[in-house]
Amino acid sequence: MKLWESYHIPSTTSEALALLERYQGQARVVAGGTDLLVEAKAETHAPFVALIDITRIPELMSLEVSANEVIIGAGATHAQIVKHPVLASRATCLVESCGVVGGPQVRNVATLGGNVAHALPAADGTTSLIALDAQAEVIIEGQRRWLPLKELFLGPGKSALNPARDLLVRFRLALCGTRQASAFKRIMRPQGVALPILGCAAWVELDETGQHFASARVSIAPIGPTPARASEVEAQLVGQPTDEATIERVAHWAQAALHPRTSKYRATADYRREMIGVLLRRTLGLAVERARTGQAIPQGVGL
Ligand SMILES: Cc1cc2nc3c(=O)[nH]c(=O)nc-3n(C[C@H](O)[C@H](O)[C@H](O)COP(=O)(O)OP(=O)(O)OC[C@H]3O[C@@H](n4cnc5c(N)ncnc54)[C@H](O)[C@@H]3O)c2cc1C
Repeated sequence: MKLWESYHIPSTTSEALALLERYQGQARVVAGGTDLLVEAKAETHAPFVALIDITRIPELMSLEVSANEVIIGAGATHAQIVKHPVLASRATCLVESCGVVGGPQVRNVATLGGNVAHALPAADGTTSLIALDAQAEVIIEGQRRWLPLKELFLGPGKSALNPARDLLVRFRLALCGTRQASAFKRIMRPQGVALPILGCAAWVELDETGQHFASARVSIAPIGPTPARASEVEAQLVGQPTDEATIERVAHWAQAALHPRTSKYRATADYRREMIGVLLRRTLGLAVERARTGQAIPQGVGL
């Protein structure tokens, strides 16, 4: 079965953009192909006229760590992220979420950029990038700029990026510092191969005593049509003691206040609502512990 007519491997973003323009909306950007080629194999899908492979563009493959931030190329694979020691200790939730995407074969080729560009509200890497308040560098209609990540998402599977015209180039996020840490957990069907029933990433900052939440960012997915922060949950945490009683109260509150939907393939709304509490208890408890001790060893990560 033919999946594409022509395949191009540009080595710069300008070359990639020129190819996209040459095909006038008939070409598609491809990275690992683990989402795109599943789509292409659907019986009703005509072969792509051209695929533009972005995985040989050095800018999209870079991973640059500085004192307080990291810039990750959109073409970085989940496996590369999982193996990065600085990300493991200072962007732990991202490593934990990339570490559970598919199996090793998928993680070796699938990219963080593809996870985001596909714009699915439950995508694991995206859930953590949202909690880490990441920004995305994009080239949309020829204009290069940095955007808050959430601005890329317009609806389920609908992105502000047009993959027949635009490029997602890099992500930028602050690394955790003193009294800051993050954690990611998800609930997945045992035989599940793609998206989770529910995922949750939490980033916390403790006050100087280590006894109260100075700041918190939480992303629970899927709750709405696009990946988003659970800002009401975050507001319930700030200024409160970092003890079990607070986490228990916030978990109960979130179960009542948030409204996930039923998915016929994954779980009912009721089950997901129950899991909101479970995941909040697990991720907040772990993030607080890590922020207090300064020790962050990613859990559940497959290398
Ligand atoms: C067996 C299996 C298991 C999976 N398990 C999980 C899982 O547990 N969790 C999860 O979240 N996902 C899972 N996925 C989905 C998928 O692997 C991830 O979303 C992956 O990160 C997609 O990246 P990719 O590089 O393969 O994207 P591709 O398939 O190459 O591209 C996906 C989309 O993004 C566009 N695109 C890609 N890169 C760019 C760019 N730089 N600029 C502009 N547009 C771009 C493409 O045109 C396409 O529309 C699974 C998939 C499979 C096949």
